[in-house]
Amino acid sequence: MSAPLPAAPGRVWAHVGQPFAPSPYDVAVVGAGRMGAAAALFLRQQAPALRLLLVEEGGLPNEDGATILAPGVWSLSGLAPEHHGAARWTRGALQALGGTGWEARELVSLHAEPAPGRVPTAQTLARWPDMGALVNPAALPWAELDPDAGMYRPGHAALHAAQAAIRAGADLLLNTRAAPQPGGGLCLERLTVTNTHQIVTHETHLVTARAVVLAAGAKGPWLAECALGVHTRHARAYRQTPHLAVPSGAHSPVLRAGGLTLRPQHGAYTLIPPLHGRDPHGYQPSGGGLTGVPTGLRRETLEDLVALMDAVPALATEALHLGRSLADVPGAWLALPGGRADGPPTFEPLDEHTWLLLGGPHADTLGLHAARELAQAVAETLN
Ligand code: ADP
Repeated sequence: MSAPLPAAPGRVWAHVGQPFAPSPYDVAVVGAGRMGAAAALFLRQQAPALRLLLVEEGGLPNEDGATILAPGVWSLSGLAPEHHGAARWTRGALQALGGTGWEARELVSLHAEPAPGRVPTAQTLARWPDMGALVNPAALPWAELDPDAGMYRPGHAALHAAQAAIRAGADLLLNTRAAPQPGGGLCLERLTVTNTHQIVTHETHLVTARAVVLAAGAKGPWLAECALGVHTRHARAYRQTPHLAVPSGAHSPVLRAGGLTLRPQHGAYTLIPPLHGRDPHGYQPSGGGLTGVPTGLRRETLEDLVALMDAVPALATEALHLGRSLADVPGAWLALPGGRADGPPTFEPLDEHTWLLLGGPHADTLGLHAARELAQAVAETLN
């Protein structure tokens, strides 16, 4: 028996110079961040007969958004045991995807109190002499090691998933903003840039799809509310990832202290501050001030870092990149599934045609599993 022929690759419309004549689709996925790109890939794998369109507002799958600034740290540390199976599945899927820059990297979480499995911080960190410059073991004397942790690049994961989905037959429309329609399908605005650098709508199209998946990150719940009138219990938060110019090496572990993650990156550290909860509706983050000097770190983040200066003394030095305005420090809106800062990735039907898929703060460890489950659920409804 001969093997089934591979699907012909899908089409890509990158800019408005390429004419787009809408044809009907079975599934349209809004947003090519890591959640949308993975959902598209899993749908092509599980239901190759379904015609699929992936729509992305940026010029590349995930040009901006939560994915590109996500820590890319996979670890079971601090994760409730009921999620361990999904986390392990995600780890395998990330490695199978290829091109994600996956590398095994131990993760050390530091604590003030002893507990089973914790050993003295000084003893744990003795393996990495450089850590002495970063951490004060006396402030957080207990450490827990996750030897199975790993680091990768979420932006690359999104790109590779999108490319694999196209090779498997998905169509991709870039530079296009999509809004779901109450009766099903999408309204598409193909965007272009004027010579005065304004982003404008070049043309609009209506495209039919039997199912629409909103994978627009923090904008997903907003699209559900504004375009479909469906209220969800989800929320969003703005997270900044400042830079700490303390040298890190090829074997430096990922550190976690007081909810702050220090990720070795480009020979230094990227800081991923804790999320406390939702940012109120309509709130626009602005920079804070330290000893009267304006900084680009929002006040809440600055307060968290100040509270950790005893444990991580480098935070009190010029190694911490503060910026002068919010634009100086990278930041992105994250969806908070269920409105909770620790909410796992989730998906749900919004009406008979539309599904909402959210990654959120745990997308590094659990995102691909949620995308695969969503793909299964959508395929089952349409087949
Ligand atoms: P996630 O982690 O859930 O994938 P991201 O914020 O990384 O979240 O990705 C969401 C993606 O959706 C971004 O690439 C963003 O440009 C895209 N997006 C957001 N709103 C729309 C929209 N209305 N139409 C098309 N793409 C959108």
